[in-house]
Amino acid sequence: MQTDSSTAKPPVERFEAIVVGGGMVGTALCALLAQAGMKVALVEARPAPLGLDKATGPLPAPRVSALTPVSQRLLAHVGAWPAMQATRVTPYRSMQVWDAEGSGAIAFSADEAGVAVLGHIVENTVTLAALNRQVLDHPNVTTFFGASPQALQRDNGRTANGNRASGDWLILDDGRQLHAPLIVAADGAHSVLREMAGIEVASDDMQQHAVVTTVQCTKPHGGTARQAFIDGRPLAFLPLTVEGNEHYCSIVWSTTPEHADELSALSRDALGEALGDAFGHRLGGVTACDKAHRFPLVQRHARHYVQPHFALVGDAAHSIHPLAGQGVNLGLMDAAVLAEEVVHAWQRGAPWGELSTLRRYERRRRFDNSAMLGLMKGFKVLFGSHDPALTMMRNLGMSGMNQLVPLKRVLMRQATGERGRLPLTCR
Ligand SMILES: Cc1cc2nc3c(=O)[nH]c(=O)nc-3n(C[C@H](O)[C@H](O)[C@H](O)COP(=O)(O)OP(=O)(O)OC[C@H]3O[C@@H](n4cnc5c(N)ncnc54)[C@H](O)[C@@H]3O)c2cc1C
Repeated sequence: MQTDSSTAKPPVERFEAIVVGGGMVGTALCALLAQAGMKVALVEARPAPLGLDKATGPLPAPRVSALTPVSQRLLAHVGAWPAMQATRVTPYRSMQVWDAEGSGAIAFSADEAGVAVLGHIVENTVTLAALNRQVLDHPNVTTFFGASPQALQRDNGRTANGNRASGDWLILDDGRQLHAPLIVAADGAHSVLREMAGIEVASDDMQQHAVVTTVQCTKPHGGTARQAFIDGRPLAFLPLTVEGNEHYCSIVWSTTPEHADELSALSRDALGEALGDAFGHRLGGVTACDKAHRFPLVQRHARHYVQPHFALVGDAAHSIHPLAGQGVNLGLMDAAVLAEEVVHAWQRGAPWGELSTLRRYERRRRFDNSAMLGLMKGFKVLFGSHDPALTMMRNLGMSGMNQLVPLKRVLMRQATGERGRLPLTCR
């Protein structure tokens, strides 16, 4: 394709990489590439960036994530962590998981794992606003808020070695034309850009909806993340500390669509009561409950993460059941590994959008993401079963594992994100 400067079309704006989707993953990727020296465009559909001044209210926002220590290191590397810490993060030093149907229970602690914390519960708005601060005024970043891709135009020219020529064009919905040797889709589970690239997705409807809200309990959470499996439906009470008050918890109850309908129809007081009852009042009574939000749970995995000059990251590449709180942690690792491979090629003067570079990213991330998706599917089958043999197995399994310190250490390393070959920015 030739760019045409003789017509009224706006001039082509050229970058070294274009990231579409300014969620947590896309913004982290943009920060990593820009801080390494690359000239990056960030395209985001929301009309304006979220600032730290608007990231928190007196009550915690409904969407939170359990961030692993490895994700924390990445966020610290890009400079976002100090602002997050100064705004609102809740460390958790222990985790309790139990089977409400039987006697199985397992507990993890930071002391046993030899780490300071097992992770932090953070409002997504806090993480995003802190990441935004790293990219908004960065001289290497041009942002396009309130913009979406209208078309992805591929360059069909070939270089002598058979690789496609210099890059592709992204046409925005307002007609602006952007060009780069690498275009990255970070536009979430329903990625429009993935569809434009013709990448297929394997979908697995988990037949559950997540009901999400915030509660206040009579007992303090004490920095422990708790999850009960109630008839195969994981109910998590995740600790949130607001100005020293340890009585808040973020709730994620992954349940049947019918039960989610029932819960969503309850008044706030009745919902709080239902949550306290279902949780066996481990944190006493629920004294206040916010509005319920719900999310259908579908696991998705893109058949390919890369094409020449094109890559998928985060939920655009995979979306996962929230029971182990891994979604954005996996996405941040995608961003870190892709940035590592691309920046390495760019610094050597090698073509960073070529398939050979991008395939290294795919190879390094696909295994970890597939393993985690498979594990969540396995948990759902194991805990959703009424088969007496499976019920006994999971009770014996959980209680047995609880006694086995070396095995627990392995599990804790998984949960804290210490898996495989970590990118340099996360070590
Ligand atoms: C109930 C629930 C609980 C969860 N808990 C956890 C947890 O504890 N820990 C964890 O790690 N993960 C958790 N997750 C998963 C986590 O929320 C997601 O993995 C994460 O938000 C994905 O980030 P992302 O940046 O890839 O995508 P998104 O957050 O979906 O961001 C995509 C961005 O792209 C933009 N966009 C979309 N379309 C376009 C377009 N056409 N043009 C331009 N921009 C576009 C959107 O506006 C958005 O800003 C949970 C998920 C759910 C549903």
